[in-house]
Amino acid sequence: MPLRESLHVHTWRCGHADGVVADYAAAARAAGMTVLGIADHTPLPDGRWPEIRMPVSALATHAAEVRAADGGGLRVLLGMECEPLPEYFGFYDEVLRGQAGCDYLIAACHFVADGRGGWDWPGERPVSARRYTEQAVAAIACGRFCALAHPDLLGYTPGPWTAEHTAMARDICAAAAAHGVALELNGYGLRKPRVADGAGGERAIYPWLPFWEIAAAAGAPAVVWSDAHRPADVAHGDELIPWARELGLRLVGAGDLVPALAR
Ligand SMILES: [Zn+2]
Ligand SMILES: [Zn+2]
Repeated sequence: MPLRESLHVHTWRCGHADGVVADYAAAARAAGMTVLGIADHTPLPDGRWPEIRMPVSALATHAAEVRAADGGGLRVLLGMECEPLPEYFGFYDEVLRGQAGCDYLIAACHFVADGRGGWDWPGERPVSARRYTEQAVAAIACGRFCALAHPDLLGYTPGPWTAEHTAMARDICAAAAAHGVALELNGYGLRKPRVADGAGGERAIYPWLPFWEIAAAAGAPAVVWSDAHRPADVAHGDELIPWARELGLRLVGAGDLVPALAR
């Protein structure tokens, strides 16, 4: 059975996905979905990392396209996937939530400071993994984001789960449980190439099982979203729902996270 809800869906505007908003809405209706959240990578006021995001000048048109797609048995929401760097918080508050009227924001830490004025991929070095954790915990605590996308992003780096991973996962999951911010089981991880698990086998980049065992023990809220990058994947990731239930994860719905759905 396809997913009924996904608040993590990209469109062509992020520069690395196919399809316009209306294509995703049509695919979602055909799949019997009830809630579709368009969460492209947010534009940034300084134009940083332009290859994976729309420019600020596209925001108003994009927002209007999302609003126009709402209806026909499907709630279509405007969200954004945001790098939770404090220097952008004013922009997120005033432009995304204020001017564009975003219904919700999700945090995703794709970049962590390398300490030399540049950026690391989260799993690139042990120090970047620790900075990733600090950034994720601060994002959860700041009150702007309803969910943390692919919290187990460190799984992108091949290799085994370590004691260091356990410590990091505990920090992230405890923060999520304390602040009621959902951790996302990300369907896109199932569609990406698998990596070596460090024990002679292979695994999905994410979801990474040991992370979710810790999330279940912490009582952190969890969601399963598709992170679709083409309309055909809009409702994909459903096989993670029984997996999550078996682990004892506390699955929550979009209505628990987005006040606009209560109206
Ligand atoms: Zn992402
Ligand atoms: Zn995404």
